[in-house]
Amino acid sequence: MTKHYDLIAIGAGSGGLSVAERAAKYGAKCAVVEAKKLGGTCVNLGCVPKKVMWYGASIAHTLQDAPDYGFDVELKAFSWETLKHARDDYVTGINSWYHTYLKDSDIDEITGYARFIDAHTLDVDGNPFTADHIVIAPGTYPVVPQVPGAEHGVTSDGFFAWETLPDRVAVVGSGYIAVEIAGLLNALGADVTMLLRREHLLRPFDAMLRECLMEEMIDAGINIVTSSQIGEVQKQADDSLDLICADTGQLIGRFDQLLWAIGRAPATSGMDLANASVTTDEEGYIPTDPFQNTPIAGLYAIGDVTGQAQLTPVAIAAGRRLADRLFGGMTDRKLDYDLVPTVVFSHPPIATVGLTESEAREIHGSAVKIYQSRFTPMYHAFTKHQSKMAMKLVTVGAREKVVGCHVIGLGADEMLQGFAVAMRMGATKQDFDDTIAIHPSAAEELVTMR
Ligand code: NDP
Repeated sequence: MTKHYDLIAIGAGSGGLSVAERAAKYGAKCAVVEAKKLGGTCVNLGCVPKKVMWYGASIAHTLQDAPDYGFDVELKAFSWETLKHARDDYVTGINSWYHTYLKDSDIDEITGYARFIDAHTLDVDGNPFTADHIVIAPGTYPVVPQVPGAEHGVTSDGFFAWETLPDRVAVVGSGYIAVEIAGLLNALGADVTMLLRREHLLRPFDAMLRECLMEEMIDAGINIVTSSQIGEVQKQADDSLDLICADTGQLIGRFDQLLWAIGRAPATSGMDLANASVTTDEEGYIPTDPFQNTPIAGLYAIGDVTGQAQLTPVAIAAGRRLADRLFGGMTDRKLDYDLVPTVVFSHPPIATVGLTESEAREIHGSAVKIYQSRFTPMYHAFTKHQSKMAMKLVTVGAREKVVGCHVIGLGADEMLQGFAVAMRMGATKQDFDDTIAIHPSAAEELVTMR
């Protein structure tokens, strides 16, 4: 028998869970369809386990600095296994919490892959379901390039399954995942080489952040090879991997593990979207209007599958607002995709919100005024390992409205949230200046810049 719902979310990740949860609070009868683990990429193979590893790596940095603070410490060993299993247990705990939470929220869990029969009917592994509203939120999956031997490498999914810390790791890519994993592996003791096909890390980010991070990573011992494309991966008898340069055919290097971190693609294949007349762009993303509507009535897309700001809190916010609109009577409710703050958990971390300097100059020309600062934070004043901090405020117009705020350095990750609130409220440089500094802190530099 076909079961009918007010709303079905395809994908029980950040987007799907949040839209169903909020809709259920309004009394809608909801279900989520998920073939894998509840929580999606963020909980299982992304933000959560990554942040655990990042904390581990930060402890390694602290231990490195400890003698400079007078501690006579001897680091005997680091157990990857211990950290990995503690991390996996933590993630499993979140998974089981989700099962209970869905049950308590009266949201049905449908296990399997959803396929459209028509715009309001789904088939999940042979069982039919209908809904007035269907929200497509399947997320993305990591991409592997089409080069011979590529299958010998892993993606971030495979990284989280590593049982041991490899000695020599090649990380291919230059985005969030590449810099985050390269940074933590290096801190935990691996010999890391990053292979960039162009010149820069984090190309869409403000130049100050990119340049500073590159210097910091090189300084920390990461080998960064720019303008390098892999043409082939050759597995050796001892399981090590030889990477061959696409242009020269020469050996780039020999590694124990290879990590592909070259981007992600929307998980839309196999859903028979055409049966619902939903179209995708050429990369497979589902375009929506600002209200998350697809052109088909009753069909919506949220989260990474839309190709917009691919961040967990964005998917959650879009899902909640959609439910507010559909079931909460808030007819104009939608997500504002401007001024989305984001943190890259690199070592040191990057926090950024708003326009980069070059974006601002392109839009506002000579009305842009920049304030920036680069300094050694007090924590590193007398540590042998020095790590710099850099900050930039991008302002526009006579009132110097702050349209961009970019920070790299110790504590940046916890620093930006409040500044993002101020910017949403239209803060000007004068507002920053009028705010009393917290002393001594690194963040105070943001309210004292000249
Ligand atoms: P990104 O889009 O951030 O970066 C991938 C980069 O890899 C591209 O920008 C490109 O840079 C480079 N690249 C692409 N193809 C190749 C290739 N064939 N060979 C070498 N390099 C290549 O993707 P990620 O997978 O790192 O992350 C996906 C998304 O997930 C992010 O955009 C982010 O939205 C989200 N995320 C967020 C995190 C957070 O909030 N902290 C953490 C992790 C992910 P170029 O063109 O410069 O070469």
